[in-house]
Amino acid sequence: MALGTSLNPLRVAIIGSGPSAFYAAEALQKQSDLVIEVDMFERLPTPHGLVRGGVAPDHPKIKTVTKVYDKIAAHPGFRYFGNVEYGRDITHADLARHYHQIIYATGAQTDRQMGIPGESLPGSHAATEFVAWYNGHPDYRDLSFDLQQTAVAVIGNGNVAMDVARILASSYEELVNTDIADYALEALANSRVQDIYVLGRRGPAQASFTSPELRELGDLHDAEVIVLPEDAELDPLSSQDMLNGDDRTAERNVQTLARYSTATPEGKPRRIHLRFLVSPVELLGNGQVEAITLVKNELYRSDDGSLRPRPTNEHETIPVGLVFRSIGYKGIALPGVPFDARAGVIPNAQGRVISPDEQKTVTGEYVVGWIKRGPSGIIGTNKPDSVATVAMMIEDASAEKTLNPVEPSAASVERLLNERGVRYVSYADWLILDAVEQERGKAVNRPRLKISRVDEMLDLLQERRHAPDPASD
Ligand code: NAP
Repeated sequence: MALGTSLNPLRVAIIGSGPSAFYAAEALQKQSDLVIEVDMFERLPTPHGLVRGGVAPDHPKIKTVTKVYDKIAAHPGFRYFGNVEYGRDITHADLARHYHQIIYATGAQTDRQMGIPGESLPGSHAATEFVAWYNGHPDYRDLSFDLQQTAVAVIGNGNVAMDVARILASSYEELVNTDIADYALEALANSRVQDIYVLGRRGPAQASFTSPELRELGDLHDAEVIVLPEDAELDPLSSQDMLNGDDRTAERNVQTLARYSTATPEGKPRRIHLRFLVSPVELLGNGQVEAITLVKNELYRSDDGSLRPRPTNEHETIPVGLVFRSIGYKGIALPGVPFDARAGVIPNAQGRVISPDEQKTVTGEYVVGWIKRGPSGIIGTNKPDSVATVAMMIEDASAEKTLNPVEPSAASVERLLNERGVRYVSYADWLILDAVEQERGKAVNRPRLKISRVDEMLDLLQERRHAPDPASD
């Protein structure tokens, strides 16, 4: 019987529920000549990956993209299974039993390390953990960050570093109108942080943050941006590249930094120091981070033409009590799936998973998003990326190159999870949680009060399911 018909639908499992997962589901739904059933599995009860757990709370517009995901989830043939962990509640073998194709959309769940002495001292953290903490991610909500320290270093020059610096420098008034986790709001309201050093290993023209994020720092109520004039000035190689190239982001960033470097300090209580051409070489401290030693870098042209940093003999030590390394996310391996540990991605050819040793395609298995290409790009970057993978999937399905599930039925998956006692959450359940969070927020004049404990989410849903229907009175 032909695959992709109502009697024999093409059944696809998607692992993960971030932007790339939803864009893959959408691309599958657009295959109007095929009947496709999509089941999305997510480890947390709540969907949307980094849109919920990563995007800064003071960037609410970016989060409105979830309206698109709600529409995708409402499509017939789509099911969401939240609170189901791949490898624990549902295994690779289970998926092969029930689906023709599997998409891994698990993102980049850990971070890169600096590899310098003192990195594991208390007070040294991954920026990604701080981000997950202030966004109410259940796995990180119980972490603590010593915000009684007055000086903080943020290592890296990406948008995550910008987010972290901005949240640390924001006033209570700037944060209270966001959906930042309630415990984080309280901790940040009592913060004693005054000086935030954002440390880039290359120059202003090579920073990877985007221009609006850089300008936003200058709009903070309680904080001013400090750039040393010598840091704002471009070295000859960077100037040459700027003249010959057309990198508008770099041009705008360089202009904004030049403006910051000549601004008269206003005496605001907090200062964001943007420093360039410095690399951390050691974190110092006796049982706790007390200072960071930096080496001054210079730029040289590497073989591929890009400008890379190399250390000089010049060092400096800045007293800081808290360090956030923000030098990139990294993917982690999934049980039963090939993994390239060096790159932190699942090896693939245009989205088709390949076994790294044999360089052969793994039938029926695909990747999208950061676990496919590494942690780069904005939310929208994931749309064409997922569309491209789905094109490969459709080509393979037409050529009958799929898994051969022995039980390809929607009911069998629910049965399996029920037998295992997995308390899975549907998309309708998520919409209930979403409404409760918004109601709770409204009661205290905030956009949302996030529920950050899995048990609380599950108990609340159970209560709602058993509550008498008010309409039946
Ligand atoms: P990123 O943009 O890749 O930035 C990583 C930074 O870390 C770079 O400045 C890099 O410098 C630096 N770095 C790497 N290794 C280092 C080392 N050993 N020592 C010192 N510095 C080092 O990564 P990200 O900030 O984690 O962001 C991830 C993605 O999410 C990006 O595409 C970003 O744009 C996106 N994002 C977007 C938003 C937004 O749109 N508002 C917010 C957050 C994140 P080099 O350039 O020298 O390698």
